[in-house]
Amino acid sequence: MEKIKAKKQFGQNFLKDESILNKIIEAMPKNSNHIVEIGPGLGDLTQRMLKYKDMTAYEIDSDLLAILRSKFANEIQSQRLELIHTDVLDIWKQNKTLYQGKYDLIANLPYYVATNIILQAIEDDNCENIIVMIQKEVAQKFAAHEGEKDFSSLGVIAKLVSKECKILFDVASSCFEPAPKVTSSVLYIKKDGLTKLDSNFKSFLKVVFSQPRKKLSKNLSSLINKDFLNTIYRELNIEDNIRPHEVSSSLYRQMHNKVIINDKQRTQRDETTSC
Ligand code: SAM
Repeated sequence: MEKIKAKKQFGQNFLKDESILNKIIEAMPKNSNHIVEIGPGLGDLTQRMLKYKDMTAYEIDSDLLAILRSKFANEIQSQRLELIHTDVLDIWKQNKTLYQGKYDLIANLPYYVATNIILQAIEDDNCENIIVMIQKEVAQKFAAHEGEKDFSSLGVIAKLVSKECKILFDVASSCFEPAPKVTSSVLYIKKDGLTKLDSNFKSFLKVVFSQPRKKLSKNLSSLINKDFLNTIYRELNIEDNIRPHEVSSSLYRQMHNKVIINDKQRTQRDETTSC
């Protein structure tokens, strides 16, 4: 390893295990999409991916940038690799996308910001596939199914926006330098490219899962009055004692639509009476 001290504040755990690096390469979608990598680090994964695709890589750490610029001088010069020194979240804030064209996000993510990055990539219309190494516990939340104890707002969102969402394989901490304290997993999300989730639905999910082990009706009572809640439960055939993790993504979508329609009708009524 090059003489560089890993920086904790940037979530630097460099993947050094050859067989895991190769497994990620094998998992790369067979398409003509551009590749975006977040946090190329010392460039081990970058080097392998560049054999197959042109890439854009975003790195926050200026010390690593110097190493990467020298290591990939040829690829940068021939425009096979665009290396951008920035906090990747700033790019999403400014441009809404990490690349002007169809791309797949493939990365060993900094764990402190991994969930946020995946949610941004889900919202980025140009991103078609997400293959990311993250903390196993977080990967399990994205890949969980209704009824499983890990099923949370992340699972609901992933189910709704994807054709497929699964853990490809786990990675032991000994595969990294320095070794993280947790086991990691490579998560694969194949987006359906159709479903858009608005911020109102995400706020609804926050309420739904505010106390995950309580009854769903208890959590929803802060948002919906009892009569209307009873109507929703009856119309959607939901049992009174159901818990948040037991409801399917599509049922949450239907519930939210009813809440929206009810809100609209109430606003219209209020406007009519105030005229
Ligand atoms: N890809 C390398 C590998 O597999 O060995 C490094 C992965 S390391 C877990 C995470 C990388 O993300 C580090 O290079 C770190 O500096 C970078 N990083 C952390 N926060 C970032 C951010 N907000 N924007 C861009 N890069 C970031």
